[in-house]
Amino acid sequence: MSLDDATVPGPTVDPTSPPGAEAAARRDQAVRAAIEQGLVSPENPLAGLIDVTGVRAAATALRAAFAGVTPPGTPVLHAFAVKATPLVPVLRLLREEGIGAEVASPGELALARAAGVPPAHTVLDSPAKTPAELREALALGIAVNADNSQELARIDALVRSAPTGAPLGVRVNPQVGAGSIGALSTATATSKFGVPLRDEGAREWLVRAYLDRPWLTRVHAHTGSQGIPLDLLVRGVAAVYELAEEINARAGRRQVDTLDIGGGLPVNFASDEADPTHGAYARLLKERVPGLLDGRYGLVTEFGRSLLAKQGVLLARVEYVKEAGGRPIALTHAGVQVATRTVYAPESWPLRLAAYDAKGRPKQGPAVGQDVAGPACFAGDLLAADHPLPRLEAGDHVAALDTGAYYFAQHYSYNSLPRPGIHGFAARADGTVRFATVRAPQPVAELVAEAGGGVPDALDGL
Ligand SMILES: *Cc1c(COP(=O)(O)O)cnc(C)c1O
Repeated sequence: MSLDDATVPGPTVDPTSPPGAEAAARRDQAVRAAIEQGLVSPENPLAGLIDVTGVRAAATALRAAFAGVTPPGTPVLHAFAVKATPLVPVLRLLREEGIGAEVASPGELALARAAGVPPAHTVLDSPAKTPAELREALALGIAVNADNSQELARIDALVRSAPTGAPLGVRVNPQVGAGSIGALSTATATSKFGVPLRDEGAREWLVRAYLDRPWLTRVHAHTGSQGIPLDLLVRGVAAVYELAEEINARAGRRQVDTLDIGGGLPVNFASDEADPTHGAYARLLKERVPGLLDGRYGLVTEFGRSLLAKQGVLLARVEYVKEAGGRPIALTHAGVQVATRTVYAPESWPLRLAAYDAKGRPKQGPAVGQDVAGPACFAGDLLAADHPLPRLEAGDHVAALDTGAYYFAQHYSYNSLPRPGIHGFAARADGTVRFATVRAPQPVAELVAEAGGGVPDALDGL
């Protein structure tokens, strides 16, 4: 880890400023310092920056949100969805803030373990777990949610062959419908996830599955990610709560003791304000599903995007500017490799952009519609089209905001573009910005090695 200090003007936030203004001030300060310190430079024209203060505050707010609506002593595990930001030091920072990990592949489990997340704070949820993954999770005592009846049969065999302390549950698809982004809606009638609760005979099958297996103590649902309205999220949670109540009534005991309500709180990509907040969601759950939060059930949550999206920014240098067909175009170094969803599905994933000058100062001037393009070789590689920003010049910088989840840590290696460096920052009121490297920029040699560079003649003899 490299720690460097730089002195730049401290954030100036007027106490009457809108929510999110402090985060925006920290971001401006970090952008300036990243350029001054050479984290973004002509040689290194792209980097991801993570606001450590913001991560800590988001974790604290999440814990407070659910502590505020449950009786003291109610067990609550907030398991961060690792796929949102699969970076070990970030998982470690969250762990220090009392947040566990939701993992969905052997790789994600390995990241969580490398970060020191204890098995008791880890939940495994993927839809296609192999026998080896299930065996490992049960041996470690990691909570597992079975996706389907065939997976449950595999777990049956494992439970018979060796006792496990792992809390076990079933993922249910409450089939409450889709949000505004089809590909991220997991509770449609035909979703690939979980046991479909409303299909004919499914509810009775589920209740029997629990009654036949006294070790099934959890019910899980995750209704979707970005684009799911709060009302739909709440209805998905209500469906699993009602199922748990029915199982417990039929069992005549509190067999189901923990409800895993998934993640999916949508993020506001339109301003610096976190809206809705975890607090608002927790209060709505309290109002609409009071029995869920009265202390009879332990809770697991699996938020990803809502914890980290606002804590990250992608900072790219403008290499050239040009004009075509009357449209100004800025050619930058951030495109499909770091903003894959935005580039391929711009309607669903618009990003806020901010312009900074060559020294990293917020760029002034009248807003002009311009295309902000990435470095990849296809025409659609745009962060935004006809986007209003002060007119960009070569050597300026563009920041893609709210990219702390599902963006820079999920590299897409189109055009063999290297993974950019990712740096955590702490911007302090005294004007000091300290950076620590979370992931170094990928050297070209590594890229070559990953592309079979070690065996150039592998195909020669075929
Ligand atoms: C992706 C995922 C999450 C996290 O979703 P967010 O929208 O990032 O909160 C939680 N649980 C499961 C099972 C997931 O697949």
